[in-house]
Amino acid sequence: MSRQQQILAEIGIRPLWQLRNPAIVEALVEEAAAQPAPAQAASLEQPAPTPAAMPAPTAADVHPQETSQPAPPAVINISDWDDLHAQVAACQQCQLARTRSNTVVGRGNRQARLLIIGEAPGEQEDLQGLPFVGKAGHLLENMLAAAGFDSARDVYICNLLKCRPPGNRNPAQDEIVKCQRFLQWQIESVDPELIVAVGRFAAQSLLQSTASLGNLRGKQHQYGRYPVLVSFHPAYLLRSPGEKAKAWQDWCRVRQLLQK
Ligand code: SF4
Repeated sequence: MSRQQQILAEIGIRPLWQLRNPAIVEALVEEAAAQPAPAQAASLEQPAPTPAAMPAPTAADVHPQETSQPAPPAVINISDWDDLHAQVAACQQCQLARTRSNTVVGRGNRQARLLIIGEAPGEQEDLQGLPFVGKAGHLLENMLAAAGFDSARDVYICNLLKCRPPGNRNPAQDEIVKCQRFLQWQIESVDPELIVAVGRFAAQSLLQSTASLGNLRGKQHQYGRYPVLVSFHPAYLLRSPGEKAKAWQDWCRVRQLLQK
């Protein structure tokens, strides 16, 4: 059994996306390494977004009930990870507190080199209190394993929002703004070498951009002092399996950058 198969067997997940020939991994990584480094995004000509100025998506993305200008988030002091979990569990800052089953803070290695940021908890995440544990989470696990990452050792995974939007609707602008202080604390505490934003909302919010996911992919961005790559949300890949090849390119880039 290959190392990848052993990893998948260990974590007890069905191989939704399993590489048939492990040699392809190395070939693709070598191919990626032979290419020029990811282009610096045009936005780098502007000052990089900083943790103190995390943006929200465009007005067009705002939920109809949330079109008023959101209040800036209150300054919050978080002493450690236990305090973060306690403060998130007690948070009533936005309307999502009324409909959540559990808050979802994050999982993985809190000192990981790679930080993955998604959008918001879904149904399974809300029930289990952990991010990326449904079908999309299984696909993410498979992609990470195929790219040579141990999700428990090498990665910390979290979302923009710590509570599930009802019916998995898009996050509202005020929800992102009110929740951003928790994410900022996580970013600075993990202090990763690389951030991967998966999905349009995570990428646009982190990078203060209204560009499409297609335009943000394939470039290296910056968030404060942290380099950022953008890829597809695994839930999107489940709906659009034809995009998995592009996603695989993204994860080869991630591996390439972290091997430097
Ligand atoms: S989504 Fe964030 S801001 Fe809203 S209630 Fe949950 S933890 Fe608080």
